[in-house]
Amino acid sequence: MSADVLVVGAGLAGLHAATLLAARGHDVLLVDRRPALSRAIRTTGIFVRRTLDDFPLPAGRLGPPIRRVVLYPPGLRRPVTLVSARDEYRVGDMAGLYTDAARAAGDAGVRIALGTRYAGRRGDAYVLTAPGGPVEVRARFVVGADGARSRVARDLRLDRNRHLLVGAEEVFSVAPGDGPPTFHCVLDPTLAPGYLAWVVNDGRHAHVGVAGYADRFPGGLRHALRRFAASAPGLPAGGRPDEVERRGGPIPVGGVLRRIGCPDGLLVGDAAGAVSPLTAGGLDPCLRLSAYAAVVLDEALRTGRRDVVSRYDGASLRSRFRGRLTLRHGLAQVRTPAVASAAFTLLRTPLGRAAARGVLFGDRSFPAP
Ligand SMILES: Cc1cc2nc3c(=O)[nH]c(=O)nc-3n(C[C@H](O)[C@H](O)[C@H](O)COP(=O)(O)OP(=O)(O)OC[C@H]3O[C@@H](n4cnc5c(N)ncnc54)[C@H](O)[C@@H]3O)c2cc1C
Repeated sequence: MSADVLVVGAGLAGLHAATLLAARGHDVLLVDRRPALSRAIRTTGIFVRRTLDDFPLPAGRLGPPIRRVVLYPPGLRRPVTLVSARDEYRVGDMAGLYTDAARAAGDAGVRIALGTRYAGRRGDAYVLTAPGGPVEVRARFVVGADGARSRVARDLRLDRNRHLLVGAEEVFSVAPGDGPPTFHCVLDPTLAPGYLAWVVNDGRHAHVGVAGYADRFPGGLRHALRRFAASAPGLPAGGRPDEVERRGGPIPVGGVLRRIGCPDGLLVGDAAGAVSPLTAGGLDPCLRLSAYAAVVLDEALRTGRRDVVSRYDGASLRSRFRGRLTLRHGLAQVRTPAVASAAFTLLRTPLGRAAARGVLFGDRSFPAP
């Protein structure tokens, strides 16, 4: 089998890159080990305003807009509420969005093979484990869109994510009418060491989750999630709703990797470390970096110059994350409830609230390459 481009991974990054390349007339094979894209979802699916402004996501696949964020210290007492004048977030129906994106990819001419795992390189070929047995693919370029622990990155000898959080969440159906759509964030290092516990309740679904450094969860991630879900804020008053889904996975927060392109291919999305080190949001970065990757590969394919891909450089992007990497370092140092509570004393000042609004409601997104 052969293709101009083999894209490994049909998350949002791989689907977007594959569609853009096929729309430019290239022969693209997109593979994913998941047998159905509506299963084994790893994201809450919160899209920020900048993404909603710049990418045509189907409105029918997005939940109600969220303008209200409540930040809680350990113990959940005296939270800080921030309300934006604009619609800041919407939670995507991710199963529907992946399915729509796969249909759009197919319409653009992408060949999609699900239930097909990328297993490595053999000489000039890439080996796939497909339902009918192993298949060898010859491709001019390979795109690693295979997530935080990318096998493609390893095989291309590109940089790999070392600084990871792990996250897990439960999704519940809720009835509208229990207050305005709200994003609740709990800063408690005993629940979510180095990051946050959250409840996003948009009146349709409530996502209850925790994320942090894997080796710092007392009793493990699942235990922390159960403990948080038992008393989480923002859930309906009349008892716990029925759980509909569980999600989870690693989150790279070390910033965009430096070496993400070489003459044989490149990395996009989580595989490239394209996640905000501070907020751990990766949906906006993965769409923007995939658009850039498609431009670079299109030029390489049209001109026949493989060296063009080496210009796809993470180092220059990474330098623009310096501030967010410093703040990530700061968040990682919040190791005790006392330190988290002290941080809330600052957060309650006008300066602290302004800083929090800047992070939560700011206009920044993944930098344009
Ligand atoms: C619990 C959690 C909640 C999150 N919530 C948010 C949020 O609300 N908003 C936000 O902006 N970001 C969020 N993130 C981060 C965000 O989800 C990711 O950054 C983003 O989804 C990355 O997309 P991707 O396409 O790069 O990777 P993925 O979505 O991980 O896709 C990688 C794909 O590659 C496939 N794959 C892997 N290995 C192989 C292989 N060998 N062969 C074939 N296929 C393979 C996988 O099956 C998968 O489909 C969250 C992350 C987690 C873990």
